[in-house]
Amino acid sequence: MRPSLPPSVRAIVRGWLNCNQVVLLAPGDNVLVDSGYCTHREKTLELLASREGLDRQPLERLVNTHCHSDHMGGNAAVASMYGCRITIPAGEVKHVRPWTPQSAWMQQLDQRADPFHFDDTLAAGESFEGGGLEWQAHAAPGHDMDALMFFEPVNRVLVSGDALWEGGMGFVWPTEGPNEFIDAALETLAAIERLDPAIVIPGHGEPFADVKGSVESVRSRLAAFARDPAKNARHGTKVMFVFALLDKESMRVDEVPAYLARVPFYGDVSRRFLGLDPPALAEWLVAELARAGVVSVGEGVIRPNLPA
Ligand SMILES: [Zn+2]
Repeated sequence: MRPSLPPSVRAIVRGWLNCNQVVLLAPGDNVLVDSGYCTHREKTLELLASREGLDRQPLERLVNTHCHSDHMGGNAAVASMYGCRITIPAGEVKHVRPWTPQSAWMQQLDQRADPFHFDDTLAAGESFEGGGLEWQAHAAPGHDMDALMFFEPVNRVLVSGDALWEGGMGFVWPTEGPNEFIDAALETLAAIERLDPAIVIPGHGEPFADVKGSVESVRSRLAAFARDPAKNARHGTKVMFVFALLDKESMRVDEVPAYLARVPFYGDVSRRFLGLDPPALAEWLVAELARAGVVSVGEGVIRPNLPA
């Protein structure tokens, strides 16, 4: 059962291409946290306006947990619909200004986002008002070294972005040797434990209350990734490919090797950690995802089974 949120806090749960939208309602000062992926912008606007979200009320401010394409891809569409101001984490400015094809690693990963203008920034230690409540910004490095998470101490609600999901978290870059991203992610988990939230609204998946269980399972997974970078590289390859597939909706199986050869991330990770050429990587990837039930393969076409 979904844990109950304060009445002024609404979570619009999406899927794995689009992050969740968190709507914080206060008359004349409605706030949205995160805006989804750009190709689904119309759906995001529809959900945002619906009774699940703003219920036809105006939106004054959009705040991002981090500037990855699935969290800020809809920023431009939301701002042009509502004229709201946009606030991004201070550390993300360097990734989106100037806006380039490689902003937030999009070229490397074959991802997109509509360019947007931000009005101000938020740093760890600062706070903002949302839904009549005060939300503290806390550093949440790991998945994104410049990410923030937002904690409301009265009801103990944490908007975690991709720092913690129910039983998981966002992909953490693999490295040869000591991994600063994994170390940072572990520190973020420790920070979450210190905050002791009663409810977490994650960037993906349903809000959840068993924070301890999720922290423990992510911690053991990160430890396994630290011991075996190739395991992390395989995980990242699967995650990024499914993300791309959710955007494209389908791909011909015989086009997968050329796709993996064309998008820099796959060649880079495979060269460093897996030692597979694109045809071998494609064969492993399609078989692995099909075996896990994450994709279906039929008539020479691969399609994702996860919600977008
Ligand atoms: Zn995300």
